[in-house]
Parts: sequence; structure tokens; C-alpha cells
Amino acid sequence: MEALKQKILTDGKVLSDSVIKVDAFLNHQVDPLFMQTIGEEFAFRFANSGITKILTLESSGIAPAVMAGLSLQVPVIFARKRKSLTLNEYLYSAEVYSYTKNESNEISVSKDYIDSHDVVLVIDDFLANGQAVLGLIDLAEQAGAALKGVGIVIEKGFQKGGELLRDRGIHVESLATIASLADGHVTFQTEEAVLR
Ligand code: 5GP
Repeated sequence: MEALKQKILTDGKVLSDSVIKVDAFLNHQVDPLFMQTIGEEFAFRFANSGITKILTLESSGIAPAVMAGLSLQVPVIFARKRKSLTLNEYLYSAEVYSYTKNESNEISVSKDYIDSHDVVLVIDDFLANGQAVLGLIDLAEQAGAALKGVGIVIEKGFQKGGELLRDRGIHVESLATIASLADGHVTFQTEEAVLR
């Protein structure tokens, strides 16, 4: 997605060889019109797939997921990173390890909002080592829901998450795939390389 690549180049800040900050449009400030085009692109890529629900993770997955939900006209459920008092015990839970933060979080969704009739599209902001997405897939599986695919705003192709998911036969659509962040420069993977 060309507009997204441009946004990453103009507004992204490379923090290290493996981490990029995109607070300007994804992780802190959100441009609703731009986010709407992201949602429309996900909807286009997963059109006519029978999706009944979008599943994401708080907080940065919520904006792209809601915009995709608006386009596909399906509800969006965001997994929470902590058990809240109001959620109580009626939950599906999974453990997610974050390599960037070096910590584990329990993520949960209420059993009220996802069940075996659902066809789920998982959406997240970044795909790095794949742990967040695997946790979300785990929640969908516990509910007996069918997984239709995974939509990612920014995939870091030099980390193993994409391969991990595609090797399992999961349909992954990333709107921009970064091949390298070496020397403070963003290099994108070509479409051909992504499709392999
Ligand atoms: P994974 O579970 O795939 O290893 O990591 C995905 C999660 O880590 C994303 O939901 C995102 O919050 C965070 N993350 C991973 N890499 C980056 C990065 O380079 N920049 C930002 N802003 N977040 C990242």
C-alpha cells in the first residue's frame, strides 16, 4: 500500500535495527481519514470471505480494526491485556510474550462476544515475532471460531512472525512489509518477495 509506505518514510522514526516508532499515525496519534483507507484496504483484501468478527489486541490494534470493521460491517472485539474486575471469570485467555518489552501479558476476551459460529479476521498494528497474533488465534480457537486470516498494518519481514504464520497455512495480508531497518533506513520488501 503505497500511501502507507510514504507515511512510514515521512513520519516513522527508526529507533534501532529492529524497532520503528510510528506514533505519528498509528501508535499514539491517529489520522482517522488515513486509518479509514487502511480499513478499506483490509476490507478489500478480505472481501467476500464470510467474516463475522474482527479480533484485535488493545490498544494499537483498535484503530485499524475498527476501520476494517466499518468497511466490512462486522463487530470488532479487542482482547484486553489484563483481567478487569468487570470481565470476571467468563473469559478465554492466552499468554503473549513480547520480545520488545521482554515481558509476558495475559490477554483475554469475554466468552460473550466470540463463539463457534464466528469467522474471524485477526488484525494488528505490527507483526514482528508473531506472538501477539498467535495469542489472538489461540483465543479464537478456544472459542471454536474459524480463522479466515490475519491483517497487519506493518510487518517486519526480517523477524520470524510472518514465516511462522504462513508456514501454518494462515492467510496473512500485510499492508507494508519492512525488509530492513539497518543504519536508520527503512527498506521495504517488494511485492514479489512478499508473495514468494
Ligand atoms: P510480535 O508479537 O509479533 O513479536 O510483536 C507484535 C507487537 O509488538 C505489536 O502489537 C506491537 O505493539 C509491538 N511491536 C513489535 N515491533 C514493533 C516496532 O518495531 N514498532 C512498534 N511501534 N511496535 C512494535
